[in-house]
Amino acid sequence: MSSLILKNATMRFGGITAVNNFSMTVPEGCITGLIGPNGAGKTTVFNMITGFYTPTEGSIHFNDRQISHLPPHKICKAGIARTFQNIRLFSTQSALQNVMVGFHVRQSNQWWMPPLFLHLREEKQIRRKAMELLERFHLRDVADMPAGSLPYGAQRRLEIARALATDPTFLLLDEPAAGMNPQESTELMSLITSVRNDYNLTILLIEHDMKVVMGVCSHIWVLEYGSCIAEGDPDHIRNNPKVIEAYLGEEYLKYA
Ligand code: ATP
Repeated sequence: MSSLILKNATMRFGGITAVNNFSMTVPEGCITGLIGPNGAGKTTVFNMITGFYTPTEGSIHFNDRQISHLPPHKICKAGIARTFQNIRLFSTQSALQNVMVGFHVRQSNQWWMPPLFLHLREEKQIRRKAMELLERFHLRDVADMPAGSLPYGAQRRLEIARALATDPTFLLLDEPAAGMNPQESTELMSLITSVRNDYNLTILLIEHDMKVVMGVCSHIWVLEYGSCIAEGDPDHIRNNPKVIEAYLGEEYLKYA
């Protein structure tokens, strides 16, 4: 069963074709990678899937539903959540408040209402669930600290926790290892895998850290100048001459 299908998706900005006729299937329950050089169109694909951009051409289906023309909040309600390449937390709010905001997406109350307006019991439940998520992401000890004051690695984990608070079935991670040291990125790999299992998620991952990509993805798609140049399992991708030339480089093979 396929959970996400892009058919001939194209995104143009004036004279620039950021994504060109891109078709991709992301199977349910899998961790799939989307890689390629800077400017290849990866984040634009995420922006199309999550409704930030409407594809100029082509279609996007999620669980057999056409989502290409839905606004971001409806796509979020359909079960798709994301993190951002440039971390987008509420930096002056605490880590706990950032995760609680994610839960509000699923509440009947209006999203803009601060916690004070929520029924007290409901707020208590959200707080408890948010603390559980923080615990899961090793952030319990910093729950009351402003999100912007946390180290990069912790901020990236916090973004994932907030995304999970929206109760998604499909999670898009945009460079989650960026800014992490080697130990943090190794821990991130097991976190991504365990979160996928525990929350029954399908994950699409953009990442430049090949240790992470090759370590967690079962299938990888490669973009260059907006077009797909290869797809396959990690072994196929790391040995594909086109991918080596366009992205990985010969050096990668020496150290892989
Ligand atoms: P990186 O690895 O550096 O994040 P990327 O593969 O995610 O790169 P995109 O950010 O999707 O690449 O950008 C693809 C191309 O589309 C780039 O040339 C970029 O400048 C262009 N682009 C993306 N968004 C817009 C926009 N809103 N307006 C104009 N051009 C855009």
